[in-house]
Amino acid sequence: MSARVLSGRELAATIRGQVTEQAAALRAAGTTPRLAVVTATDDGSSAWYVSSISRAADKVGITCEVVDLGADSDIEVIRTELGKLSAQETVHGIILQTPLPPGAKLEDLAAGIDPVKDVDGANPLSLGRLVSGLPAYAPATAEAVVAILDHHDIDLEGRHVAVVGRSNVVGKPAAHLLLNRNATVTICHSRTRDLAAITRAADVLVAAVGKPRMITAEYVLPGAIAIDVGTNPTADSGLVGDIDATAVAARAGALTPVPGGVGPVTTALLLRHTVQAAAQ
Ligand code: NAP
Repeated sequence: MSARVLSGRELAATIRGQVTEQAAALRAAGTTPRLAVVTATDDGSSAWYVSSISRAADKVGITCEVVDLGADSDIEVIRTELGKLSAQETVHGIILQTPLPPGAKLEDLAAGIDPVKDVDGANPLSLGRLVSGLPAYAPATAEAVVAILDHHDIDLEGRHVAVVGRSNVVGKPAAHLLLNRNATVTICHSRTRDLAAITRAADVLVAAVGKPRMITAEYVLPGAIAIDVGTNPTADSGLVGDIDATAVAARAGALTPVPGGVGPVTTALLLRHTVQAAAQ
């Protein structure tokens, strides 16, 4: 058996097409959608990610401003910058890029992003609203998990989904979005006992661990749907997921590729959130 490939590229292209039209309409009406990305790191993969967001924004007609505060930046400087951007009328979306300088906590700083501009759902208020079923921007990666499943017509109602990872930006919001779709969700983490026994009981497995190829075939129910959120850089400048794709493809029913799965949909959704924020 070889798993069906759940590509994210087509869906991402469709979303980018819609965003391009919406951005053009906004510009025609006098508003240029603008996204600000605040960075305070010299991490190479973060720089790669920020430049890919910037290029993608450019292509759809969103102005992307990268505010690089430097890796040794003071926490209060980051807080002040987020406050300034939140107050700036011409800025519609704000992303605070990780990693952050030592001692800085994403949730704490992101609380300073105006929720109406919080296009990557990093402000704890956004997560609270999401959990409560109120309108909010979901973290784009978490939303991408559900969007890919929808795009490939995978029904979630009543199915058992195991989410491996409980970060505030991926695991937790993904679990709540799946719960909102009436899946039965188990959230697993580093202290989970006998992880493989739990994931092997799941119809859908979402891997958001940050450990290259950690999820091997023994973690997967034969025929299950496997969603790989992992983006781990390799020594040769490539990317591998949290799932051992070769082994799992022989056992799962369907699997998202890395690259080309969750990643492109995440970027496209960030752009969608930005035009939505600009339209408000
Ligand atoms: P994170 O903050 O490091 O969280 C990792 C989670 O995995 C934690 O909850 C941790 O548990 C859990 N974990 C670690 N080792 C484990 C183990 N051996 N068994 C079970 N659980 C374990 O990472 P993140 O920000 O959520 O990101 C997760 C992955 O998604 C990374 O590969 C990241 O690069 C990728 N990512 C991709 C995109 C995209 O656009 N595709 C965007 C963002 C992130 P504890 O809570 O107990 O520590």
